[in-house]
Amino acid sequence: MASTPATTARLLIVGPQGSGKGTQGIRIAEALGIPVVSTGDIFRANIKEGTELGRQVTEILDRGDLVPDELTGAIVRDRLQQADAARGFLLDGYPRNAAQVSDLDAFLAESDAALDAVILLDVAREESIARLSLRAVEQGRSDDNEEAIAKRLDIYEKETAPILEVYGARGIVDRIDGAGDLDEITERILAALEARGLAPAAAV
Ligand code: AMP
Repeated sequence: MASTPATTARLLIVGPQGSGKGTQGIRIAEALGIPVVSTGDIFRANIKEGTELGRQVTEILDRGDLVPDELTGAIVRDRLQQADAARGFLLDGYPRNAAQVSDLDAFLAESDAALDAVILLDVAREESIARLSLRAVEQGRSDDNEEAIAKRLDIYEKETAPILEVYGARGIVDRIDGAGDLDEITERILAALEARGLAPAAAV
């Protein structure tokens, strides 16, 4: 008797800096048994370890600018080809502009795949800024200074928010209210994914 294959879930979580997408991404990925692929985390780890890549991107991150698409795309391809991503993944922070959406589409199409759902964590701008300032104090991230925060929110509004129209036209965006209790937000996301057949009902 054939066993039921586990659901594959190729997910993207999007939201302004400070929306809590990092925290929620980890929770959702854990519930579904898939890895989180966070480009920001990959860059920060390389900076910390002093790798060649880290040296290349340090100043870019500190300014709050985007790392060139080609470099970022190569890193994501490499990561998504690792064995643990075969049954799905949750992308956090990539794609972040229209060109990166095309790059990711092309890469996934090579294996007849596509993103299954895009979770949009909806948080008011004032709330994101307040959370970012708090994180700056708690974690001491070098790009959580006022100038870099403003630049990153700007890039989000001008370059990242428009990708939601592209994914929206495909009918794969779930807009989730990002205000309130952490557990409640996680439940809202899992319920939306379950409605798409992407999360086991037991996880909700
Ligand atoms: P994050 O942790 O997602 O806020 O990312 C931190 C920083 O890493 C960003 O401000 C960018 O400098 C860089 N970065 C992360 N993801 C990307 C991406 N998809 N494209 C270009 N740069 C990125």
